[in-house]
Amino acid sequence: MASIQLNKIKKSFGPVEVLKGIDIDIKDGEFVAFVGPSGCGKSTLLRTIAGLETITDGELYIGDKLMNDLSPKDRGIAMVFQSYALYPHMNVYKNMAFGLSVSKEDKSTTNDRVMEAARILQLEDYLDRYPRQLSGGQRQRVAIGRAIVRNPQVFLFDEPLSNLDAALRADMRVELARLHGDLKATMIYVTHDQVEAMTLADKIVVLYNGTLQQVGTPLELYHQPANLFVAGFIGSPK
Ligand code: ADP
Ligand code: MG
Repeated sequence: MASIQLNKIKKSFGPVEVLKGIDIDIKDGEFVAFVGPSGCGKSTLLRTIAGLETITDGELYIGDKLMNDLSPKDRGIAMVFQSYALYPHMNVYKNMAFGLSVSKEDKSTTNDRVMEAARILQLEDYLDRYPRQLSGGQRQRVAIGRAIVRNPQVFLFDEPLSNLDAALRADMRVELARLHGDLKATMIYVTHDQVEAMTLADKIVVLYNGTLQQVGTPLELYHQPANLFVAGFIGSPK
């Protein structure tokens, strides 16, 4: 089970409190978007879940397991960064296999997992290419493939489409929705793009200045925004 529970999560950098006590419950298999203006703490919250930042106070559970002191690789999580995080000197196959070579999977398991990811992401014809020979959308698919091969329970995406153009972003939104349907994994998706959140997410978490403003379905946020900030951010007429 890959439900995720955040209990009063706080994060400070030195004297500055960036996350001020965040409570969120995410169900197994849910697609959840974290939204809010630049600097509100979205990436910090995601990195805290991934284990890339320590938790200053509060508890993080994945399933029924307390994660606070577990290293990133023991959390069953894969984080997808923007496409420029690919290795330029490795072809598509090697870029995707790299995550597994680190975890010492045997060669045939690695090959099976990479080929399965390539099939899901329609990259089978591109395995020999290098990142510079791919379009932005293909590069982004390779970045997602690197996460898929590790068969994580939880995918964390930090603005994965923000350096793609509008048409490609729209295509990738469709692909992400399909991917979520195929893999049935729990996914958290950070974006400052309300349209992305409204079209992709089962549930949206609105953050402002390190505090939780509202958690709800896209329709709930649209029709019953908890406050003026949420109303303004989601674009409701209220
Ligand atoms: P968002 O992703 O919503 O744009 P971030 O989580 O990146 O916001 O940042 C939230 C706040 O935390 C910002 O004020 C940022 O400057 C601060 N911050 C993030 N990382 C660090 C760090 N490593 N050291 C100090 N301050 C940080
Ligand atoms: Mg960010």
